[in-house]
Amino acid sequence: MTKRIFRTIFIVAVGVFLASALLFMTVLYDYFSTVGQNQLRAQIDLAAQGVTNEGIEYFDGLEAHNYRITWIGKDGSVLYDSVSNANDMENHFEREEVKEALAKGYGESFRYSATLTERYLYSAKRLPDGTVIRLSIAQNSMLVLTFGMLQPIIIIFAMAIILSAFLASRLSKKIVKPLNELNLDEPLENDGYDELSPLLRRIDTQQQQIRQQKEELNHKQSEFEAVTSGMAEGIILLNPKGTILSINRAASKLFGTDSFVVGEDILSVNRSLALTELLQKAEEGKHAEAVMTFDSGKYQLAASPVTANDEVIGIVVLILDVTEKEKAEQMRREFTANVSHELKTPLHTISGYAELLSNGMVKQEDITAFSKRIYTEAGRMICLVEDIIKLSHLDEGAEDMKQENTDLFVLADHVVTTLMPEAKKTGVAIELHGESAVLCGIPQLLESIVYNLCDNAIKYNRKNGSVSVTVKNEEASVVLSVVDTGIGIPEEHKERIFERFYRVDKSHSKEIGGTGLGLSIVKHAARLHQAEIELQSVVGKGTAVTVKFPKKS
Ligand code: ADP
Repeated sequence: MTKRIFRTIFIVAVGVFLASALLFMTVLYDYFSTVGQNQLRAQIDLAAQGVTNEGIEYFDGLEAHNYRITWIGKDGSVLYDSVSNANDMENHFEREEVKEALAKGYGESFRYSATLTERYLYSAKRLPDGTVIRLSIAQNSMLVLTFGMLQPIIIIFAMAIILSAFLASRLSKKIVKPLNELNLDEPLENDGYDELSPLLRRIDTQQQQIRQQKEELNHKQSEFEAVTSGMAEGIILLNPKGTILSINRAASKLFGTDSFVVGEDILSVNRSLALTELLQKAEEGKHAEAVMTFDSGKYQLAASPVTANDEVIGIVVLILDVTEKEKAEQMRREFTANVSHELKTPLHTISGYAELLSNGMVKQEDITAFSKRIYTEAGRMICLVEDIIKLSHLDEGAEDMKQENTDLFVLADHVVTTLMPEAKKTGVAIELHGESAVLCGIPQLLESIVYNLCDNAIKYNRKNGSVSVTVKNEEASVVLSVVDTGIGIPEEHKERIFERFYRVDKSHSKEIGGTGLGLSIVKHAARLHQAEIELQSVVGKGTAVTVKFPKKS
């Protein structure tokens, strides 16, 4: 800007100077020409007078230094010339000024020398005798005049250039200074040129609009961050090239990064093939899903393209924790396989014995034993199916079962009474100790807990062993403990006996009618009551299971 203003001012200044110099020279030259012409006119009258009176004698002793005087006869022949020999000179009849003087009495003209360095002014007058007297003076031509003044012109020109450069520089800086000093943060506070006011007002309005839009954007951004940061699911927003625009806390944690990855390529955070393929599909405008394994478990990644006018303008990646889902899926598969396996054995036995009976291949005296076996296996199947139903009921949350204040001691007493014959049969003494302890719970499930623990304590006991069932109150809980003097559980199995169909000794458990689901039911039912289970067991000495129920209003 400064340079442009400087250049313009400078060119104008130099131009004006050159034009002035040219004009000055022309005017000056014109002036001197006119002066010369006037002098010639005055002189010619004097010369005409002299020649008319004195004839050729007039020229005797005439000293004309600046002038050339020529006397021309009527026919154009030169009678006298102050510079050249008249006889050597050509006829002057055709000369313009002579012609004009002969015709009108007076004539003027000018001619340049062959080198153009001189201009000759001619003035001619007809005398009464018909001859013509002519005067001429030589003047420097404009070219010579210009060359003659070249040195001062150059000096003045140089001075003019320096001066105009200096002034142009100052002026341009002065013009630009207020523009450079404009405070664009506060456009209306400036005292610059009036002409800038509309522009400054416009800038101010636009700045206000930008500020407003920025505030709205920040607000939306913080809203979005507040919403997404609280989410358990991971969310990543990407541009079509895979650059991270936003990443929430859950996703950052999963990828082991921080929020500073915004602006980086997603592949610099995770280079796995699954993610690369997923993003490739999303970039092509297709929805894609993949399951990826991280240290904390399995996650499902769903990438959806965001499109506008059929063009992908961004990608949203949603990350869901499917560890539990996968585990549940796995457990369900295992459970189904186990159930089919568990049911297959009694069914095969029943079907085998029934076939033998129906074919009449069993001796009369064995029929009772065979029927008994069928009855036992059917009973085992019924127990198994009942336990499975109970478990799936618990899996669904047992929402149809009502919670009510239940006295665990009364419930335990009922269980002990029910199991007494069984205990007697196996030679195990069972006793109930404690006191009335009321808690809020689902009676059927509480009974299942007590029943399964007591049943196990009897089943996995030894001859003449004992089972002690205690129900007591503690400050904030009701504690049930079932202690037996049985075979105990080896250390390595303690963790797993609560799993479905897990038995320490499979054949022994089956022999005594175990389904492998009793402790699973206990675990589930206890969890529904927010109860804690504690297991202590020493192989050969016995087992103690304690269940601590929180008291509820
Ligand atoms: P089951 O129907 O086989 O008894 P449970 O789920 O009730 O199934 O028990 C799982 C396994 O834990 C049993 O097979 C048994 O090996 C072991 N177990 C459970 N309770 C006791 C106990 N009181 N003493 C010794 N072992 C036990």
